[in-house]
Amino acid sequence: MRELAHQFDLQPLNTLAVPARAAYFGRADSLERLRELLDFARREGLPLLVLGGGSNLVLREDFPGLVVHMQLGGFELTGESDHHVTLRVGAGENWHQLVRRTLALGYSGLENLSLIPGSVGAAPIQNIGAYGVELDQVFCELHALDRETGELLRFDRADCAFGYRDSVFKQGLRDRLAITSVTLQLNKTPSLCLDYPALREALAGQDPGRLTPTAVSDAVCAIRRRKLPDPLDTPNVGSFFKNPLVDADHYRHLKQSYPELVAHPVGERYKLAAGWLIDRDGWRGFCDGAVAVHERQALVLTNAGRGGGDRVLALARRISDSVAERFQVELEIEPRLYP
Ligand code: FAD
Ligand code: NAP
Repeated sequence: MRELAHQFDLQPLNTLAVPARAAYFGRADSLERLRELLDFARREGLPLLVLGGGSNLVLREDFPGLVVHMQLGGFELTGESDHHVTLRVGAGENWHQLVRRTLALGYSGLENLSLIPGSVGAAPIQNIGAYGVELDQVFCELHALDRETGELLRFDRADCAFGYRDSVFKQGLRDRLAITSVTLQLNKTPSLCLDYPALREALAGQDPGRLTPTAVSDAVCAIRRRKLPDPLDTPNVGSFFKNPLVDADHYRHLKQSYPELVAHPVGERYKLAAGWLIDRDGWRGFCDGAVAVHERQALVLTNAGRGGGDRVLALARRISDSVAERFQVELEIEPRLYP
């Protein structure tokens, strides 16, 4: 077996830039190597973390087991019809590079999901979504190794039980698999999704009939660059909390007290904008040493001082307690916590 690194520095591999070390660290750049690494962890009884771009996790302290950095590449056309293509993509490919590559080839469907950090393999885990589109709308299937048995498994869309920033991989199969490839179905004839207010605003004045998917991707990138901190300059993991869902009575009660409340109906319930709740509760721009609530989007916590994950989580806890007291709404942390 190829050498493993010991006491490996994970700070450059998590976008929150938390200082932490992995007791063991290996790169999975082939299926054989991935199997070898999973075997090693099982044999030694080590806790295991499959790491992609490190943009949706918080390391609370050093990881006492094996960190497997997913580096499986691949981009393969597996099917084509008059209107669609299917593409199988390696889990270690960079998500945004995939978006731009498919657009350059004339395939649309991913444009609203531009500039989301991280890897292709992590995208189904929280069913990534932005600007009115979610991964499950283009998802066909994925392949994954069972971390215990090493068996290669196939999951179709129904198997994944996708929900709002959720899937079976965050629930019953949490930390049980290593996703190796994701297959997507994209359009050869664009069908643009321009309903999201910020996107509509950015594209106002343009003739919708002449808009290209690449122009939509460019607009999404421009909005994101204006509003969100670049993790390379200002470490962060994007939205720190999920948008909470509340029942209609709770929504009506809040709306009476706060007529400007930002909420969107989802079936019989309402999705509240967590960023609005945090902002209205007075946290936007709040700074506690090097940990802060971002000025332009209160849903994003930043770690400019590159301090420990515990400090970011302490601020998150203060915010969620305070929001719960004011609005009687529990905020759920979106990134995964390790160890
Ligand atoms: P990691 O952080 O490496 O891992 C996240 C989880 O997935 C961990 O539990 C890890 O074990 C698991 N995992 C990763 N790869 C695999 C694999 N191959 N097999 C099994 N398990 C795996 N998210 C959105 O949904 N929409 C957004 O618009 C969005 N914007 C963001 C903006 C910024 C600035 C940042 C920093 C984050 C944003 N995110 C967004 C969150 C994040 O980018 C996504 O959730 C992304 O899919 C995480 O990918 P990753 O490779 O970095 O995952
Ligand atoms: P925003 O435009 O300020 O909107 C605030 C919230 O309202 C969003 O969270 C969004 O929910 C919801 N919303 C707005 N218009 C909606 C509509 N027409 N229908 C249903 N819900 C609507 O949001 P933002 O913070 O700038 O983010 C823009 C997009 O990028 C959002 O989709 C957001 O989820 C995504 N994003 C995600 C992360 C992450 O880490 N998860 C980080 C940055 C941005 P949704 O979140 O459900 O869309």
